[in-house]
Amino acid sequence: MDGKTIIFSAPSGAGKSTVVHHLLGLHPEFEFSISAASRSPRGTERDGVDYYFMDAARFRELIAQDAFVEHEEVYPDHFYGTLKSEVERIWSAGHVIIFDVDVKGGANLKRYFSDKALSILIVPPSMEVLEQRLRGRGTDTDEAIAQRLAKAQWELDFAHGNVDVELVNDVLEDTFRRAETVVDEFLAR
Ligand code: ADP
Ligand code: 5GP
Repeated sequence: MDGKTIIFSAPSGAGKSTVVHHLLGLHPEFEFSISAASRSPRGTERDGVDYYFMDAARFRELIAQDAFVEHEEVYPDHFYGTLKSEVERIWSAGHVIIFDVDVKGGANLKRYFSDKALSILIVPPSMEVLEQRLRGRGTDTDEAIAQRLAKAQWELDFAHGNVDVELVNDVLEDTFRRAETVVDEFLAR
């Protein structure tokens, strides 16, 4: 029943979702792990597609019920977590699970899945570029952007040396090619 998993982590805005969507388009056997999140949908996000959206009280209830493989309070009162039911759902379909999580969640998932997992850190070329990408995405308030930037260096320091692969996301097409290569090598193992 247990299958393989690929874990993407990075500071917000580094380009994880972009790389993850590219790989999902190439591999029909990959399935995105939809996390639970206690924030409101932004942009075109939909409940049950991008996240299982809920309020912080419901999230705390699920923590109390031991429903999560891992969860983190990524920003104050903004909880994110991987539900055990989600892992079961994807593996029972025979699919490879793709995670898009913060760096602490990534480390916890790697410890949990061990050599069934490939952990990939997406690194922004610089903090200036990270800020441009967060602003260019046009989905976050100035306050949310400031909060995300304030945490980004710490996140990179935390994850550096603690993942299987680090990909600097400068020219997007190059990042796609390198991601495809490391993923293909992992699947062939
Ligand atoms: P994350 O999922 O890590 O928060 P996103 O994938 O949403 O990041 O990327 C943040 C923004 O940066 C998006 O607008 C995306 O289109 C853009 N972006 C991602 N990678 C690159 C790149 N290599 N060059 C330029 N823009 C990029
Ligand atoms: P965003 O609000 O930008 O969608 O996500 C904020 C951060 O939470 C990102 O770094 C994202 O990868 C992370 N995140 C999303 N889902 C999970 C999860 O299930 N667990 C953990 N630990 N982090 C998550």
